[in-house]
Amino acid sequence: MTKDIQPQAPGTGFLDYAPAPESRDVVRLRSSYGLFIDGEWVDGHGAPFTTIDPATEERLADIASADDADVALAVAAARRAYDRVWSRMAGGDRGKYLFRIARLIQERARELAVAESLDNGKPIKESRDVDVPLVAAWFFYYAGWADKLDYAGLGANPRPLGVAGQVIPWNFPLLMLAWKIAPALAAGNTVVLKPAETTPLTALLFADICQQADLPAGVVNIVTGAGTTGQALVRAEVDKVAFTGSTAVGREIAKAVAGTRKKVTLELGGKAANIVFDDAPMDQAIEGVVNGIFFNQGHVCCAGSRLLVQESIHDEFIDRLKQRLTTLRVGSPLDKNTDVGAINSAEQLDRIRRLSDLGEAEGAERWSAPCVIPDKGFWFAPTIFTSVSTSSTIAREEIFGPVLSVLTFRTPGEAIAKANNTPYGLSAGIWSDKGSKILAVADRLRAGVVWANTFNRFDPASPFGGYKESGYGREGGRHGLAAYLKAGAR
Ligand code: NAP
Ligand code: MG
Repeated sequence: MTKDIQPQAPGTGFLDYAPAPESRDVVRLRSSYGLFIDGEWVDGHGAPFTTIDPATEERLADIASADDADVALAVAAARRAYDRVWSRMAGGDRGKYLFRIARLIQERARELAVAESLDNGKPIKESRDVDVPLVAAWFFYYAGWADKLDYAGLGANPRPLGVAGQVIPWNFPLLMLAWKIAPALAAGNTVVLKPAETTPLTALLFADICQQADLPAGVVNIVTGAGTTGQALVRAEVDKVAFTGSTAVGREIAKAVAGTRKKVTLELGGKAANIVFDDAPMDQAIEGVVNGIFFNQGHVCCAGSRLLVQESIHDEFIDRLKQRLTTLRVGSPLDKNTDVGAINSAEQLDRIRRLSDLGEAEGAERWSAPCVIPDKGFWFAPTIFTSVSTSSTIAREEIFGPVLSVLTFRTPGEAIAKANNTPYGLSAGIWSDKGSKILAVADRLRAGVVWANTFNRFDPASPFGGYKESGYGREGGRHGLAAYLKAGAR
């Protein structure tokens, strides 16, 4: 620790913020949830499981699990809804349903934000100010496309694919649902979606919103369960598989659908470089680095988990970054002042610990922000590793936690080479005062998204997706529609 850093943890001083908890009462959770198939709640035939609050380890609800037969039932319901209703409906009418869903999301925003923070562990200020507004924005954006598909870039009268099987991860549960369901429905497909095992609640609340919006039965089906439910969905009679998750599971899915007629989109892991040049505005860059890796506890596929800082400013930058990290407030996700919430599961915490210990064993220098860790739940203090070599495990593998690996460079060429020295290619960041340098470097980075003097910005009109082991296909924008359409007959 540098000498000017106060060792006192935030939350312990007399001038500190008083607790500002968001009320839990805005969410009325049921004690147990079934599967949402054909517009109705039905029992699952797999072994039910429990979803917990990772900040307290409290049980939130019992969740049904879909077995192969349940998944087949959901796919059959989606097929009927596709053939009889949704694919025949005029685009403008599909758009009305999507606008209605978007408005209901806005009306129920507070409830959705609290449910997301409870189930996932993310700070309420993120679920309230980032996740849920983006979810609504995604539905509004694709609602607008529903009657304009002739302009999607596939010629006149493009056709939907049919039934989409969609599997999503736990880091942005409702947002990943929106990225999957909004474009699929706008294009005229029906869907069966499997949320992650640790974060099923907002998908189940979304099923409730579909009922409230009078969405025709079977257009959206939600099947909860573990990885085996996801496997069953991938193997089922669907026309499209859309997956967001780890590269390892993405690879399995690619194998499972090889040789079939199913179309596939894979949005997988990342190990993004956040490149800071010596001419960057330093305070702004520090905020960007903090947002890049500590936003959502670092559970972000496009997180800036590798900081590449120009050697001439390394020491000052790291000192100031550490100073900034001492002000981050780690704690209750429902407290409106919390910056860093809980790690999503015991399993993920183990992975973060294991990789961090390995980083130390391989010779990197570890520093963690002083903070008071609650007794219960899953927590990891914001951590920085310096003196990291390019061959170190923590410079290569996705940790998916609040852990930053710092490397240095001397020239733009070296920065580009190091940034691209990864099997992934999802995102990158560049911090510099010079527009010409930003454009020249961005042009040579092999990453799907490159942010300049900002990080982790999302917009429904902007396509998102990876190169190499980060997957293929794009979500968002016009490109996101192409993943759910085929060219019409001429
Ligand atoms: P994961 O283990 O791959 O799980 C993702 C989803 O797939 C979950 O719903 C999971 O169910 C299910 N699943 C597990 N095994 C399966 C199988 N064999 N077949 C079909 N489905 C299966 O990933 P995760 O740990 O939840 O999420 C973290 C990963 O997602 C990170 O690598 C992150 O980078 C990536 N991610 C990528 C993006 C992007 O847009 N590129 C966005 C967000 C996250 P269970 O929950 O029951 O295990
Ligand atoms: Mg949970």
